[in-house]
Amino acid sequence: MIFDTIKNLLKDEITPQEFERYIKQIHYNESASRSNLVVLEVPNPLLRSWIATRYSDKIAHLFELKTGIRPVVEVVVKNRHTRPKESSEEITIQQSKGVKSTLLNPSHTFENFVAGPSNQFAYTAATSVADKPGRLYNPLFLYGGVGLGKTHLLQAIGNRLAAQGKSIIYVTIEQFLNDFTLHLRNQTMDRFREKYRGCDLLLIDDVQFLSNKLETQEEFFHTFNELQAAGRQIVMTADKHPKQIAGLEARLKSRFESGLIADIQPPELETKIAIIRKKCELDGIRLSPDIITYIATHMDENIRQIEGTIIRLNAYSSMVGQEITLDFAKNALRDQIKETQANITIDTIVEVIAREMNVKPSEIRSKSRSTNIVNARRMVIYLARTLTPNSMPIIAQYFGMKDHTAVSHSIKKINELLKQDANMQARIDELKAKIQSGTA
Ligand code: ADP
Ligand code: MG
Repeated sequence: MIFDTIKNLLKDEITPQEFERYIKQIHYNESASRSNLVVLEVPNPLLRSWIATRYSDKIAHLFELKTGIRPVVEVVVKNRHTRPKESSEEITIQQSKGVKSTLLNPSHTFENFVAGPSNQFAYTAATSVADKPGRLYNPLFLYGGVGLGKTHLLQAIGNRLAAQGKSIIYVTIEQFLNDFTLHLRNQTMDRFREKYRGCDLLLIDDVQFLSNKLETQEEFFHTFNELQAAGRQIVMTADKHPKQIAGLEARLKSRFESGLIADIQPPELETKIAIIRKKCELDGIRLSPDIITYIATHMDENIRQIEGTIIRLNAYSSMVGQEITLDFAKNALRDQIKETQANITIDTIVEVIAREMNVKPSEIRSKSRSTNIVNARRMVIYLARTLTPNSMPIIAQYFGMKDHTAVSHSIKKINELLKQDANMQARIDELKAKIQSGTA
């Protein structure tokens, strides 16, 4: 059983005492679990919170290594002795359709990916590469923050080309590294080279972890060159631009930059809503539009977390046998959601930005074109789109603009600055935090 394998892997990562004391008490509820949800039962609430905080990330990671899918790990309290006949009737979570245990997650397809302004460029680049592998952009380098869809797009290329019978290797750079060490130790480096240099498509995830690993960088450099020279397609992802990866050899940086580099930005509200709709449709979960908007406006940009929220909500609703209403959702998600964000209005944002950027709130609301006021106004507009549910026309109305062109222009401008200036993201995060704490 899969969970026995996971437990064995976990054994290597924790002390024997921890294993005896905690992990042994976990019961894996197989019938309630599915490819993207792992339900673990423990006998008491104390153990529940302990395991949820200490081990659930590790467990999710190990599942991902084994199945190619990173599940949400849900730890629930259940006294197995008093209720021997459980789960299968109470918990009717829809079984997901025919998921094979392969390294490519079969649901990471282009069809399941929602494109919007924040990821359009990366999406288009990925589909072009899948259409003409090795011929247009080689390598393709995708980068962006956590949970924004890099692995999804990377694997979508893989899934499309796998369907055409191409030979594909998908590895995280960590797996590449382990593989390398293993073959080196066993003196089978020729097999290692044969394997990596023999594929049509090499997909490498999270290459930022190459940082400071000089020996692997050397091997990777040669593999890379041979594949590229042979016209084989290479696609990589990282959490930052190659330039910003510290401890990466200059020659690798320049190789990485020699093809096409595409970034993925955090999704706008509309894109978030479209993604949530898509996830619900794929998982057979019914959520009303007001609940979808509630989740989209109250959760962070990380789509993985949003996905987890939807799955939890659904699991929770089937366990307690109650329909998901807006109140139910608010209640169930209380501790996951940034409660403070609920109260953020454009007024609040104007006040915080005025203070932070040394202008008057009235100046931000005015039509003044002086540079520092325009900059402050632009920032307010950008943050209003990210932190409040207001649409562009509504924001335009707030500022007395005749239509939303100027609003859209301001957002574009900030997105450009985000690309050019490495400090911009940090500055925006700081402002967001100030706005959020101001309304607590
Ligand atoms: P990253 O590799 O950037 O950390 P992932 O590709 O693992 O992020 O994405 C996290 C989750 O969010 C995945 O389940 C993925 O399917 C989903 N996701 C992210 N962006 C989108 C999108 N635009 N459309 C549909 N699903 C998305
Ligand atoms: Mg990833």
